[in-house]
Amino acid sequence: MRLEDKTAVVTGAAGGIGRATARRFAEEGATVGVADVDDEGGRETVDIVVDEGGDAEFQHLDVTDYDAFESTLRAAHDAFDGLDVLHNNAGIMGPVGPLEETTLAERDQLIDINVKGVWNGCRAAVPLMKATDGGAIVNTSSVSGFVASPDATTYCLTKAAVLNFTRAVAHEVGPAGIRVNAVCPGMTKTSMIETFYDGLEGDPAEIRARFAEDFSLERLGEPEEIANCVTFLASDEASWVTGHGLVVDGGFTIH
Ligand code: NAD
Repeated sequence: MRLEDKTAVVTGAAGGIGRATARRFAEEGATVGVADVDDEGGRETVDIVVDEGGDAEFQHLDVTDYDAFESTLRAAHDAFDGLDVLHNNAGIMGPVGPLEETTLAERDQLIDINVKGVWNGCRAAVPLMKATDGGAIVNTSSVSGFVASPDATTYCLTKAAVLNFTRAVAHEVGPAGIRVNAVCPGMTKTSMIETFYDGLEGDPAEIRARFAEDFSLERLGEPEEIANCVTFLASDEASWVTGHGLVVDGGFTIH
């Protein structure tokens, strides 16, 4: 098993990519801290993991709250004798629409969750991983970190920030045996994307079919397909991979 005896924390694990990653990490032998602001969804993830024979605990966490993030990671570290893996995955997409219609409050919320949340996680994890003699952090960026996504300018800003922050932290903490990578998903079937589709005008089935045409593999991604790549980056199989943004997008950005 790739993560046997490891302690891992996944944020935004109440659904979507985070839930799929929590399940994969547990399947690979990790004890998983499931962290989210959504208590019901987070507890459901824990129930699923436990039903599948894994080990997980729910922790209510708003990633914008540094002190809460620090205590969540410290609790995992202290309970299981180390913190090996952090998947900084919590994020939001909205608002979708032109820049000139985006409010300052919407701007701040996106930056707070998508950027400060990842900063908080890395800042809090590094000393704990140093005390563990190393570790692996995987941040969820997006293809929107390096290509222009229509009507999502502020989201693009946040995901580009995550990508280069990942490289910068990786460079700094590499000598301590901590690897820091990012996963850059293309459109993946989660509630985030369903909400995005629902906000578009037109026939829902046609909208979904139209977007699928943008992918060389002619379909959207499944959360499990992102989780598999996060698990690789978190595991010792990626022992010489750091500062990398792994694009997982069904061929969306190759044309
Ligand atoms: P999702 O909405 O299913 O999951 C996001 C999770 O983050 C939710 O459980 C939500 O409750 C949680 N969350 C939101 N704000 C939080 C906060 N302040 N503190 C803690 N948890 C919080 O969406 P998803 O698609 O699984 O998104 C996961 C990550 O993947 C996000 O960072 C997103 O930007 C990124 N991403 C998604 C796609 C996609 O197409 N679905 C593509 C590229 C990147």
